[in-house]
Amino acid sequence: MKKSLGIYLHIPFCIKKCGYCDFCSFPQKGTEDIKAYANELCRRISATHASEHIVDTIYFGGGTPSLLPTGSVSKILDTITNTFCVDKNAEITLECNPATADHSYFKNIREMGVNRLSMGLQSAIDHELALLGRAHSFADFLTCFDSARAAGFDNVSVDLMYGIPDQTLKTLETSLNALCRISPEHISTYGLSIEENTPFYRQRASLDLADDDMQAQMYLLCSQRLSEQDYQKYEISNFAKNGLVSRHNTRYWKRLEYLGFGVSAHSFFNTERFSSSRDIEAFLEGKDITDERYTLTDDESRQEYIMLSLRLCQGLDINEYEKLFCRNALDDLPQMNEYVNQGFMQKNGSCFSFTDKGFLVSNALLSDMLDFS
Ligand code: SF4
Repeated sequence: MKKSLGIYLHIPFCIKKCGYCDFCSFPQKGTEDIKAYANELCRRISATHASEHIVDTIYFGGGTPSLLPTGSVSKILDTITNTFCVDKNAEITLECNPATADHSYFKNIREMGVNRLSMGLQSAIDHELALLGRAHSFADFLTCFDSARAAGFDNVSVDLMYGIPDQTLKTLETSLNALCRISPEHISTYGLSIEENTPFYRQRASLDLADDDMQAQMYLLCSQRLSEQDYQKYEISNFAKNGLVSRHNTRYWKRLEYLGFGVSAHSFFNTERFSSSRDIEAFLEGKDITDERYTLTDDESRQEYIMLSLRLCQGLDINEYEKLFCRNALDDLPQMNEYVNQGFMQKNGSCFSFTDKGFLVSNALLSDMLDFS
């Protein structure tokens, strides 16, 4: 039986750089650059061998993948189909920013097999979008969302951010309500974090940023409001309706294999983790851009399993842990029973998972739990 495989394609171009962004992305100069990048992606994909695998998720991430001309999307998908065995029910997601795609674009990529969109909204308040340096208004987002629906996309995810400068619980609630009114199938929420080497980092003293308490209140507001609207939280910051979870992102949390193509793309394949550098010139010249390559030790694998499984609301299954690592989870992690008594965790059958109270301090709890040798 073939093993499941995901494919991630990094498209590092954006209309302009947002003030908080430290993803690998460059301001778009023209479609020729993007086409050349897509051609190099195809060359590298064709040179890959994974005959024991079946691809069941494909994810165009970025950057802004919706800046890819439709001809390049088609060429990349054809190359993947010609190189790998692809499941006929594969989830194929493309990240999209408002004001970069219209009805005809969506119709074209839907016909090519893209069956899920992930849209970057962040806020329904134009003042907050401007502060973030986003290249769109809320009205642009609504037009884009309606165009996607009209083109047949019935699985759409939207990103929402909290902790934005000047944001209050009231304006966050306005954004949540606006989002719930259009009812996307999936919502990802993110707390703004200030990363080095970004304009926000340099301006941080003058930005009106939410402190930890306010971020926690905002996180709880998102969880509460979305659960009232029938969204089920399945991961610390991800919510889905009708079971339409992100199958691709779930593979990261479940430690299933994936191959990443493009600058700064990460892979987990044949027990090795490896990643590519951000050097786009070297990438376009066809050079090997592998940055890091390593195989996890048993302890590292266990630690990774604990961290990733506890991001999921399903939690850590002590039976699975024992099967995978031939060790008793409660001997390794005696804190879990204490956390249940303190309300940070809950136990459901053989699974331990964080409660909302636990998610708020999960970094501290995990660092305590992972302090084993
Ligand atoms: S659109 Fe996304 S990837 Fe592009 S600059 Fe903004 S945050 Fe970064």
